[in-house]
Amino acid sequence: MSKIIDQLKETVSSILPEKCEVTKIEMEGPEVAIYTKNPKSFFENENFVAKTAFELKKRVNIRTDKSLLLDQKEAEAKARQIVPEDADIKEIYFDPAFSEMTIESIKPGLVIGKGGETSKKIILETGWTPNIIRAPTQTSDILKGIRHQLHKYSDERKKILKEAAEKIYADIDQSPKDWCRVVALGGFKQVGRSCIFLETPHTKVLMDCGINVAAHSESFPYLNVLHLPLSELDAVVVTHAHLDHSGFIPFLFKSGFRGPIYCTPPTRDLMTLLQFDYIDVLAKEGKDAPYNEKDVKESLKYCIPREYREVTDIAPDMRLTLHNAAHILGSASVHMHIGEGAHNLVYTGDMKYGFTRLFNNVDMRYPRLETLIIESTYGGKDAFQPNRQEAEDSLLRVVKETVERDGNILIPVFAVGRGQEIMLVLENFYRNGLLDAKCYVDGMTNEASGIHTAYPEYLRKGVQRRILQNDSPFTAEIFESIKNGKNRDEILQEKGVVIIASSGMLTGGASVRYFYKMAENQNDSLIFVGYQGEGTLGRKIQGGLKSLPMTDEKGKTKALNINMRVETVDGFSGHSDRDQLMAYMRNLKPKPKRVLVNHGERTRAADFARSISARYKISATPMDNLEAARLK
Ligand SMILES: [Zn+2]
Ligand SMILES: [Zn+2]
Repeated sequence: MSKIIDQLKETVSSILPEKCEVTKIEMEGPEVAIYTKNPKSFFENENFVAKTAFELKKRVNIRTDKSLLLDQKEAEAKARQIVPEDADIKEIYFDPAFSEMTIESIKPGLVIGKGGETSKKIILETGWTPNIIRAPTQTSDILKGIRHQLHKYSDERKKILKEAAEKIYADIDQSPKDWCRVVALGGFKQVGRSCIFLETPHTKVLMDCGINVAAHSESFPYLNVLHLPLSELDAVVVTHAHLDHSGFIPFLFKSGFRGPIYCTPPTRDLMTLLQFDYIDVLAKEGKDAPYNEKDVKESLKYCIPREYREVTDIAPDMRLTLHNAAHILGSASVHMHIGEGAHNLVYTGDMKYGFTRLFNNVDMRYPRLETLIIESTYGGKDAFQPNRQEAEDSLLRVVKETVERDGNILIPVFAVGRGQEIMLVLENFYRNGLLDAKCYVDGMTNEASGIHTAYPEYLRKGVQRRILQNDSPFTAEIFESIKNGKNRDEILQEKGVVIIASSGMLTGGASVRYFYKMAENQNDSLIFVGYQGEGTLGRKIQGGLKSLPMTDEKGKTKALNINMRVETVDGFSGHSDRDQLMAYMRNLKPKPKRVLVNHGERTRAADFARSISARYKISATPMDNLEAARLK
């Protein structure tokens, strides 16, 4: 047992008076679980939970000693009696490993009650600690599956967390001479397969581990150059769910890694969705994925979700805090406090500085910051995006012109992110009487939207309020969802409809299938609203491709002529454009001493780095894959 854990336990014991009747103190990953025979004592005069959490600077979970837990059936009945009906409880289930009763409801606020009164009452009357989660207002099969999976393996998760704690709080001898370095394993001077190795003498962490879905070779990060068994990695931190950041994580588990994955709760759910879909898309194309569904499920067990701005020890010499990056639901910038403050690193991940309908503004204040790793997707000096109003006007114009000549519109979107942003824009047109066209939303985008409705607190106030009032914009009248790819031909028989389908770069999935059916019809329109990666079909069409070979149903190859109208409407990107990146640098506090640029094509990354150096007099380098940089 580590000395630090012993000390933590001693501190807990010294704070809590005897009447708290503590029977066991356990670490659950970075959190503390206190088992008691007298939960009531924690909520009397003083709030001992808050006091202990403050002293330890850790999340503290109060759990009733197992001997006092009420029979599950009785406990469920009691909880249903205590919680007001308006809370609309969808499900209650029990995780004995955590002495927890999970209550999934449409209005979790009512399960918590004013000042936590209702949930306190549940603990006191049943012994079970309520784990209160929000039910999505729009069904998502994948979310259901994820929650079921976490529940099914709660015994194993408890064990995983205990083992993680042993590593997080291991005894090490830190020294002022300790060094720190990063190695660029993927996503440098390119977009795709983002992966950064962060190493100290005591700790080895990966930040993101993505795949390049657009590439036909070199799709995966250079993990082999680490020359170590992947089981020796201590942890993985994931900025957000997009596959170029999370897509290779199940492979780590396939290769023997069994450590914690830190990310926000929505990232956990969305990346699981995208990883399953990745396997599925490849299977439909008759290709093998680098891992299978079992590996995805295994990784899920190891996720330790963290909220924005929650400070978390992830290793004896590393402390992690995730901050809002405003890019997609749950997306984060990573702040790493290394070696008791010897070095502070911020890795922005994909980041949006500027207005979006979905998210609050990106976080730009950090307690300390020496090295910044920043994305440069639109970092080139010519990479300006029109402002949002212009973008929305252009989109509306192209849609209306197409509808007027009885054509249909295909908008390929990233199922997570652009999909929902474009839905909000179209719904806004509809609500304001500017557009009266039916919008079909195909497949995965619906699943992703469902997950959005389970995390309204991650969304901008207006959207949040609508979801809470059961008026979700994602299920507004204008939208019709299509599941399992049915009825595609029927939809195309209609005239003047908008089709929102993934993938966003026409690299597979529903959008490609629609594209093949629509390409030759000159009345139809294809509108790109997001970034098109190098080498993708989307990029080629954007560049003026007029025809491509395709195999028809009989297996014959023929030329498919692209007669449809092709438009690119910039300005909806979840990435900052050149101006916004520079504005982010200007407003970031404190100023870093050094900047490393990633996530941008070669010239854009280089150009952005040059501009940062020139304008802000900060050393800025566009690192290349396989390069290392010593931070300390
Ligand atoms: Zn992204
Ligand atoms: Zn990315």
